[in-house]
Amino acid sequence: MASGEVLDTAALLAWPVERMRGGFVVPGQRSELVRISPDRELAVEAADLNWETPSEDALAIARDLATSTGDMAGLSNVDFELLALTLERGAILVTDDYRLQNLCELGGIAWSSVKTEGIRSMWSWELRCSGCGWVADAPKNPNSDRNLGNCRDCGSELALRRLR
Ligand SMILES: [Zn+2]
Repeated sequence: MASGEVLDTAALLAWPVERMRGGFVVPGQRSELVRISPDRELAVEAADLNWETPSEDALAIARDLATSTGDMAGLSNVDFELLALTLERGAILVTDDYRLQNLCELGGIAWSSVKTEGIRSMWSWELRCSGCGWVADAPKNPNSDRNLGNCRDCGSELALRRLR
């Protein structure tokens, strides 16, 4: 049974202090928060959140899951660590990120949305060249700079495509 909640940054921005009290978060969210909404940092500090870094074991499980679904290329480091922390804690992941929701569905992980309705169907993804259609191997690490890379054959940009 899931216990505790791992809160993505959307929850930290949207929820009242009392609602987020005691939630689990990863240290990387602090800089996200400062960047998006500096005023919000004080409220978050008041909420007695549990700032935790996921273990290597949990990161390895999250990596296998995100690689198998093809979601890894679209994940930020913070997203990836939130997923791992949720696995480690046996918690519920609170997120409005469709990619994280998709991963939870496919991985049998409990999740709830911050405010939107959430996904209705599950997807898998592949990283495909926009020029020649070459399909890249799923990356083994989260994508920190939003640049998905270029085709090794023709040099065109790679893009994530939903598999049917
Ligand atoms: Zn190509």
